[in-house]
Amino acid sequence: MGVPRSKIPWYPKINYDKCDLCDSGPQCLKFCPHRVYAVKGQPKKLVVENPNNCVVFCRSCRRVCAPDALSFPEKREVLALIKKLRDY
Ligand code: SF4
Ligand code: SF4
Repeated sequence: MGVPRSKIPWYPKINYDKCDLCDSGPQCLKFCPHRVYAVKGQPKKLVVENPNNCVVFCRSCRRVCAPDALSFPEKREVLALIKKLRDY
């Protein structure tokens, strides 16, 4: 996209009020092949360990999250930001 990945704010945000780590292990972590997620701490908690590994405009892992605990930015806003950064 002509812009360094680290400048593009696209990655999942976890709603900890909804995330229950899933009954059979974190489905989002199992689903995503890009090692975006990790489970850390005691008590265990899902974290976005590698936000820049998230594929820009992908939202696929949202589908495997039954409690709908994952959200993403507005695509339109991120596209506008990318265009702006590219113009400089
Ligand atoms: S799929 Fe949803 S509920 Fe399960 S660990 Fe991921 S964010 Fe949490
Ligand atoms: S949106 Fe896509 S790339 Fe990003 S964490 Fe989810 S499955 Fe992985």
